[in-house]
Amino acid sequence: MNSALNVAKFGGTSVATYETMCNCAKIIASNQSTRVVVVSASAGITNHLVALANTALTSQQIEEIIEKIKTIELAIVGKLKKPEQISDKLNVLLTELTELAKHEEINFRDDLKDALVSMGERMSSLLFSAVLREFDVPATNFDVRKVLRTDSLFTQAAPDLSVIRQLSQSLLQPELDSSVIVTQGFVGADEQGRTTTLGRGGSDFTAALLAEALDAQTCEIWTDVIGVYTTDPRITDKARPLPELSFEEAAEMATFGAKVLHPATMEPALRQDIKVFVGSSREPEKGGTWIVRDCEHEPAYRAITRRKDQVMVTVKTPQMMYAQGFLQRVFTIIAKHNLSVDLVTTSEISVSFTLDNPPNSVSERVNKETLAELTTICDVTIEQGYDVVTVVGNNMHSSAGVSSKIFEAVTDFNLRMICFGANPHNLSFVVSNADSEDVVQVLHKALFE
Ligand code: ADP
Ligand code: ASP
Ligand code: MG
Repeated sequence: MNSALNVAKFGGTSVATYETMCNCAKIIASNQSTRVVVVSASAGITNHLVALANTALTSQQIEEIIEKIKTIELAIVGKLKKPEQISDKLNVLLTELTELAKHEEINFRDDLKDALVSMGERMSSLLFSAVLREFDVPATNFDVRKVLRTDSLFTQAAPDLSVIRQLSQSLLQPELDSSVIVTQGFVGADEQGRTTTLGRGGSDFTAALLAEALDAQTCEIWTDVIGVYTTDPRITDKARPLPELSFEEAAEMATFGAKVLHPATMEPALRQDIKVFVGSSREPEKGGTWIVRDCEHEPAYRAITRRKDQVMVTVKTPQMMYAQGFLQRVFTIIAKHNLSVDLVTTSEISVSFTLDNPPNSVSERVNKETLAELTTICDVTIEQGYDVVTVVGNNMHSSAGVSSKIFEAVTDFNLRMICFGANPHNLSFVVSNADSEDVVQVLHKALFE
């Protein structure tokens, strides 16, 4: 274990402007153990890049979006004490960005899309390393593609853990004595060196992966809230920050919609027992949440999450009673398209499951292809406009009264699929998106207020 090593990740709002970057720099300067810094793109930039990558735009619309990106980046450079240190490098990146945005195949090739969408982190890491040097931190901007090897599943690439470890140990570890490394979250490269990305919100995952590869002791996720809350503080102002959480609870929360952590973040932490801290870069003095293996308290109810934009799919075959292997055929098709299914309910002749369907994402296309293939073997019904609400806690399946308290609180709402019992940390159900905010508020009141 690299006992003194801390990997710190700063999200989009934390590196949005020169001023917010200065808050982050103070956090880094005050902790000698922080030798690796992972940054997201400045707030708003990735959304602009995704728009350039995924929508057919006129030349004028492309120019307008590039102008918006430049305005955000140049506002930061303009405040640097020595902008000339990095302005040439930033111009090279902006030229690369412009060429990709105007590439005639940009809307059709996932490899080009990833190269374009990665530009946000490539620019923010360059700018933030310059800000850090103003605070006398010996910062070096490091291209994460040298170490963060992934497969070639562009836009949703999966990391190759053993190669990442080997490359990080040989290329990154030796740098840490003399520099604080500032690198890009969200971005990777496949075996051929082509740029990939880990999926939206993936910078948290990058930080955890690098912490694992470098045997770090802690990983800090600095964001715009003072920790992980009992529920999204945007849904109710009664939500309160949690001082501690277990790896399992945090993983469950992230998977079921707590945007504060990318769903895969806890996997490396769990494997290597790396403590994860979540706090606010604007108010570091307010402390935050520690996510650890063993918590002092394991309450029945810890938090409520909501995952939006779910499609509910019901597949039905009149022959299911007799047709052995029907489930297997359904799930083979789902697996072939790399979709993961979280909620499933079955009856004798039908199976219902939910698919993620956020607007403007790759899932839309993949879902369509999957559903088309499913119709070749069974009847498929698709219902849109649903969210999944999840109560996360401990020993929920074996404690008396846990589920009845939850269901009592939501008797006025129409619950669709209910999933409970498959693991001790989770009770989930599907509700219409018109109801989901009210459902979370009512549940929060019943369980936490
Ligand atoms: P960053 O850009 O730093 O990665 P994100 O926007 O991805 O930040 O995540 C932080 C946001 O996550 C918060 O502003 C909050 O609205 C949302 N969020 C959702 N659920 C929770 C939760 N349980 N606790 C804290 N924040 C949550
Ligand atoms: N910039 C990327 C996104 O907006 C990754 C991240 O912020 O974690 O999705
Ligand atoms: Mg995030």
